[in-house]
Amino acid sequence: MARFITIISGKGGVGKSTTSINLASSLNMMGKTTTIVDANLTTPNVGIYLGVPVVPKTIHDVLAGKIPIDDATYIHKSGTKIIPGSLSLESLSSIKPSQLKHKLKDLDKQNDFVIIDAAAGLGREALAGIEAADEILIITNDELPAIADALKTSRVCQELKKEIIGIIVNRRKENGVRIKDIEDMLELPVISIIPEDEKMREALTQRDAIIHTHPSSQASYGYRRLANFLLGNPYYEEAVSVTDNRTFMQKLLDALGIT
Ligand code: ADP
Ligand code: MG
Repeated sequence: MARFITIISGKGGVGKSTTSINLASSLNMMGKTTTIVDANLTTPNVGIYLGVPVVPKTIHDVLAGKIPIDDATYIHKSGTKIIPGSLSLESLSSIKPSQLKHKLKDLDKQNDFVIIDAAAGLGREALAGIEAADEILIITNDELPAIADALKTSRVCQELKKEIIGIIVNRRKENGVRIKDIEDMLELPVISIIPEDEKMREALTQRDAIIHTHPSSQASYGYRRLANFLLGNPYYEEAVSVTDNRTFMQKLLDALGIT
């Protein structure tokens, strides 16, 4: 039985795809079979981020009933599985986003985790992403417009009776809204903080997750903390801080991925 977790935000460009990729890669590194599904059907980019062939079989073909889901599954060199989206505009016309939940059922037996990278906003596509999961992670930046959109998203998830695991604050900067204030506004716990990290761009040029290209970066710590939190590992106790106040031994264990 897989855990189906959707990564959603409200506002676009806050880091859903980056988080989906790095969370899935962290879980994969920890020995959990994990598939990332690009459910951002109008503007998919997980395949681009991870170097999937330019004209792949995609989730659009699966939704159109043309192929079984296994045929659209690619394996990244790290072992993480990816179901990319189609970049062609025509492929949008023949699909129903509402079919997503049903079509993803086949992933249940072969995976420990299915991470669904959802669309921004609260349109049909984003709702299909929410419906397809049992659990939700909401991403926001530490700026008011993103937090306001996260609040709307959280209300919709509650109406749909989905379990919201918590909030991830991505691209954390020094002068952003305080974490305590974000938690108060959203009435949800912040379970991981990913700092603004310029190495994210380098990872992108290498078509890989930052947890592979720069495993010792602060962002990588944030993603591994998140994965450990989902697995119920005690590492999370250290999580909600951007300041690195870990002991030398903790840093060493973290660098080795031992928790
Ligand atoms: P979304 O999927 O929500 O639209 P993306 O994951 O595509 O957002 O991220 C948008 C942009 O922000 C990308 O260029 C990505 O590399 C960059 N980015 C995401 N997270 C960070 C971070 N923590 N530090 C620096 N850049 C980031
Ligand atoms: Mg995206």
